[in-house]
Amino acid sequence: MPKQVAILGGGESGVGAAILAKKEGYQVFLSDSQAISARYRSVLHENDIAYEEGGHSPDRILAAQLVIKSPGIPDHVPLLVEVRDLGIPVVSEVEFASWYTSARLIAITGSNGKTTTSLLTYHLLKSAGLHVGLAGNVGDSFAWQVAQHQFDYYVLEVSSFQLDNIQKFRPHISVILNITPDHLDRYEHDFHKYVDSKFRITENQTTEDLLIYFADSEVLDSELQKRDLPVRTVAVSLETPIEQGGYWANDQLLSQIDGKSFTVPYGQLPIKGPHNAVNALVAITIGLQLGLDAESIHTALQTFVNAPHRLEPVAVIDGVTYINDSKATNVDSVYYALGSFDKPIILIAGGVDKGNDYSQIEPLVREKLKGLIVLSPHFEKLQSYFESMVPAFFVTQDLQEAIAKAAQWAEPEDVVLLSPACASFDLFKNYQDRGDRFKMAVRDYANSRKDLH
Ligand code: ADP
Repeated sequence: MPKQVAILGGGESGVGAAILAKKEGYQVFLSDSQAISARYRSVLHENDIAYEEGGHSPDRILAAQLVIKSPGIPDHVPLLVEVRDLGIPVVSEVEFASWYTSARLIAITGSNGKTTTSLLTYHLLKSAGLHVGLAGNVGDSFAWQVAQHQFDYYVLEVSSFQLDNIQKFRPHISVILNITPDHLDRYEHDFHKYVDSKFRITENQTTEDLLIYFADSEVLDSELQKRDLPVRTVAVSLETPIEQGGYWANDQLLSQIDGKSFTVPYGQLPIKGPHNAVNALVAITIGLQLGLDAESIHTALQTFVNAPHRLEPVAVIDGVTYINDSKATNVDSVYYALGSFDKPIILIAGGVDKGNDYSQIEPLVREKLKGLIVLSPHFEKLQSYFESMVPAFFVTQDLQEAIAKAAQWAEPEDVVLLSPACASFDLFKNYQDRGDRFKMAVRDYANSRKDLH
């Protein structure tokens, strides 16, 4: 009799886990409290996987010997409490997938930069000819990939929610890019719990494995000293020369590990800003560690294109550069966005505030902002914090109006930057929708300017 598994959540990771479980001979039942999308429903039908949607049937779930939980479901929901009370193990989809692959895992976490670093690392390894897959939060779920491919390596973008339910998950190389307040609603508003969750990425690593971390982060530095982990640690820094790892000095990025080294001028990076120098140093250090030669890394760096909505140039209109950074949904990412330009900035920000503390960006706002436009019905917090600090301030719920106002304030060489520091759900479906609509509105504005000439 095959083991019964219940899968909670019918999105990318739940459906991926269901396909893998079915392939591995489990009796699978998938349950989602909401509606499942048509695409995933048809995948479940095609694979002959039993499922329900719009509610859970506890009897079927509690009959399982294993529960796989999607990252969106908090641990404290009553059904999961019952599952645990019965002693049924609950694991995340990345944990489950890791049981069925012998590939070497490169797992990347952090509050910001996961997608960029995962994509760049994958690009470097794939361009060098390694048989590598990309999975996790970016692209297909890990389980789905494991069900379909036999790669030698996986680059995995992992969130804290996926790490919350690991048991044996052991990356060959793990990365913690940074830990700054985010998603605290899932961690009882306790930053330490969020930090613990991120550090779980390394809990099964040994001296044979590598942990790469950003040494300029006070949180990471002090946590590592406290934790005294068995894993080999390698740092990257923008401030201090590093013997094993990577650093930035005199406008060059240098990475060296176990006698191998690589150098590239900062200006030749395909992604801009100091935060992206960190991401690049991490990816290059991973490449070196896995035996890539310098020529292959140089060539791959030249052909990398980042995912949209991350400091994405949209247009130059009347000498003013418009940038879409819609993915900046917390304060730390806006801090780095503001630090990425040496020009006056008109910032468009606002949305659903996740308990933001804006003090981190206050000096940069004073130094660089020519104007602040709040694009949200919830403008009061940003207004009371910043209105007196900036030369010009405006509130709107209309993107066209925001762009028209920014264009009115801007002079040639200025930057108009959408970098919201907030989630998008008040006016948009998600951050992609916000970024796409921003780009459309900028292009409409560009066309209207052309018509005038
Ligand atoms: P994630 O997948 O962790 O959300 P992304 O690569 O999608 O990270 O980037 C999210 C936002 O964070 C973007 O606004 C981006 O410019 C910014 N960002 C990217 N890398 C870093 C970093 N290392 N530190 C701080 N902010 C970053």
